[in-house]
Amino acid sequence: MENVKIAQIREVKLWKDPSLGSYLSCRLHNDGRKRPTILVIPGGGYGCVCMDTEGYPIAEKFESLGFQTFILFYRVTRYPEAQLDAFRAIRLIRCHAEEWGADPDHLAVCGFSAGGHLSACCGTLFHELDAKDGDEADKFSQRPDAMILSYPVITFRRTQYIGTGQRLLREKFEEMRDILSLENRVLPDTPPAYIWATATDQLVPAENSLLFARAMWERFLPCELHIYPDGPHGMAAGYERRDLSMWPEQAKEFLKVSASFPVEGGVKGRTVVLTFDDAVCNHLSTVAPLLKEYGFGATFFPCFFSEEWRKANGKSLLTPREIREISDMGFEIGNHTFSHPGMAKLPPEEAEKEITELNEILASQGIPAPESFAYPGGPYAENIVPLLKKHGIKLARTTERRVWEPGKDDPMRIPAFPLVEHLNGRLNFYEALAKCTENNAAVFVFHGIPEIVHAHCNVTEKTFRYMLDYLKENDFQVLSLRDYAHKTIQG
Ligand SMILES: [Zn+2]
Repeated sequence: MENVKIAQIREVKLWKDPSLGSYLSCRLHNDGRKRPTILVIPGGGYGCVCMDTEGYPIAEKFESLGFQTFILFYRVTRYPEAQLDAFRAIRLIRCHAEEWGADPDHLAVCGFSAGGHLSACCGTLFHELDAKDGDEADKFSQRPDAMILSYPVITFRRTQYIGTGQRLLREKFEEMRDILSLENRVLPDTPPAYIWATATDQLVPAENSLLFARAMWERFLPCELHIYPDGPHGMAAGYERRDLSMWPEQAKEFLKVSASFPVEGGVKGRTVVLTFDDAVCNHLSTVAPLLKEYGFGATFFPCFFSEEWRKANGKSLLTPREIREISDMGFEIGNHTFSHPGMAKLPPEEAEKEITELNEILASQGIPAPESFAYPGGPYAENIVPLLKKHGIKLARTTERRVWEPGKDDPMRIPAFPLVEHLNGRLNFYEALAKCTENNAAVFVFHGIPEIVHAHCNVTEKTFRYMLDYLKENDFQVLSLRDYAHKTIQG
């Protein structure tokens, strides 16, 4: 296996005087490639900097789309310190472009809410504010090559929404509000802008975006504007919603077409593993045929629960014959024990019985002996690992929510993301995908599509199809546990 390439995360102070507090969070690859660059500028109403929602997840997302990403932590003390921080950050990235794998000629700022105002300041005030610190970086341009503005604050002219402006300008607010209403400040050399907002944003109305877009269009400058019909303020990566979650891809397309960014396909060879637990009958009627349609692999983990359970819910279960049909379609069948007990405290002889009983049912149908196991209920049970190995199990899946790094993780303790529709299922799905690189895989745990008996594990068919579409559109390879392991660990 080749060395895992991990982005090295480094914090760089912006100024010689470190007490100023502002810094760049740099996520540096060590593969020597020069990538188009995104400087993420989180919002926070010029009162704070929301790194956790509008910083790190956004940088991860653009990283997965093939960009070199940086996050700006700026001062929120008094105007124009935040602006000087942003300009200084642009200069520093260009100055260290070689070392940091950044393409200095294709650098976009990407700001949210008040960070959108700050980003738009970068594209409009670069002639008039001076962010020098007496070093090499001073020689570089501070004009960004493009702007991505997410539900930006643009205008301070409407009295009902001026909190951000008041925090930025304080006692100078009345004097400066027109000057920093950026719809007035677009220049002939303002860089191209991609703008998005939601029509129902109560905090920073979409009108801000409209004003800026109109100012751009009046000067015949490239500007693309998306107003999504629904969504509150602060949607950030938009992961909860499929329509919104596509904005980074659309912004990337804009950068390519309208700002001539040399953006390639992003991270190639990203992998997702799909697993389906508990032998729900629609695994055969819905899931397996759909997966076939998409050309995706998957692992199914059947079990049969207790006799009482079967009396009450038996109709929802796959029969052994039906499990064989899924196997015959080319999917991997793993072992999830016979009756789905918690394994951590199970006496060894009972654990053994649970594993062998299920294996015997599969063998009676001519299904290959399982190589994969899923711990019932999810938690890792160290006590049964020797037993699993004895029965030929090479891979065992938990529900520890991380991406699976085959070079690092114990194959008997594979992490996975359970997806449940009403518990931010879509959010968890997109967030996990943003963490995928060519050296790991996101393993997902589904139950029924939809889930018939265990309603708390439900994912609807509509959502499931969205997810499959997304994987297809974004060139993920979708495999079973076994096939991914063969490609990485054992192959
Ligand atoms: Zn289960």
